[in-house]
Amino acid sequence: MTELERIVQNIADNHSAEKSELVRILADDSINDFLFKTADAVRKKYVGDEVHLRGLIEFSNICKCSCKYCGLRKDNLNTNRYRMDVEEILFLAKKAKEYNYRTIVLQSGEDSFFSKDKMCKIIEGIKKMDFAITLSIGEKSFEEYEAYKSAGADRYLLRIETTDKNLYEKLHPKMSFENRKRCLFDLKKLGYETGTGCLVGLPGQTLDSLAGDILFFKELGADMIGLGPFIPNPETPLKNEKTGNLSLSIKVMALTRLLLPDINIPATTAMETLHPEGRILALQSGANVVMPNVTCEDCKQKYEIYPGKAGLNNTPEEYKKVITEKIKAIGRTISTGYGFHKKMF
Ligand code: SAM
Repeated sequence: MTELERIVQNIADNHSAEKSELVRILADDSINDFLFKTADAVRKKYVGDEVHLRGLIEFSNICKCSCKYCGLRKDNLNTNRYRMDVEEILFLAKKAKEYNYRTIVLQSGEDSFFSKDKMCKIIEGIKKMDFAITLSIGEKSFEEYEAYKSAGADRYLLRIETTDKNLYEKLHPKMSFENRKRCLFDLKKLGYETGTGCLVGLPGQTLDSLAGDILFFKELGADMIGLGPFIPNPETPLKNEKTGNLSLSIKVMALTRLLLPDINIPATTAMETLHPEGRILALQSGANVVMPNVTCEDCKQKYEIYPGKAGLNNTPEEYKKVITEKIKAIGRTISTGYGFHKKMF
């Protein structure tokens, strides 16, 4: 074993790491194969071979924020905005039932039209169809999170995006890093399965700050981690920046699996956007979840966070078929359960 392999093995055995060790691994690509295989083995040991499919509904692309990397930012005037009504959302959830998905992920920009009461009505409607529900609708007050939880929401995804406070505040005008963290700790306190994650390859981001992100996931006690490469959007201030690196993103994900061995980790769309087999590579390097898009054709095209999003050319039926075949081809199975986080320690 090389010294770096020993470090990786040690992290896999103890589920803890020094920041300097994470930086060394992130900096050296000669370790990649060993790291990916080790993360795959840890995934198999703790969460098994099942892949959980979660049906994603992107129900509004209207957003009050101005995140500098995101195509939904309010200052992007070159995008067609849409907002679904309650019936449309429930209709898509019903379709997701036909694909046998057991979780609905409701994602949107930060759209104030969806008041606390409106969101609760949607959550209750979906819950009646016997789904687990994940929300990904941004920063809210403790009271709002509490109301969604009482209405039936089970999980919440809110990426910290980066734990480098200065970088965070540069990229998120008028937003506060402290409030983002407050949201995540409130969600944990309320008993949500709490998901966070980061963007990999943001301009100005260092390996040191990525290592900090991984340690933050552990500190939070995250139940899910979704991360992916930054992909420049031509309609944003970061349009001329470099695209994030796929293999670095998978390394961050694999290290996360070593530190948090029993959590749920999606193979994300951004990974597949940079490489046609990006999701499969991720599933073989620590991931155990895929979130197929069940949004209707017209809205899916308009939910343009970044250009060329994977899956835009497939109908939900086609995507289900393609992803199922790919998952089976790598010797994995499709879960028939809700796919909750089963804590092992
Ligand atoms: N508004 C919600 C929130 O803030 O969590 C959910 C919607 S937001 C569009 C979902 C995620 O898209 C963000 O957490 C961010 O990481 C990702 N995203 C936005 N712009 C991106 C880009 N240019 N490249 C890759 N991912 C991006």
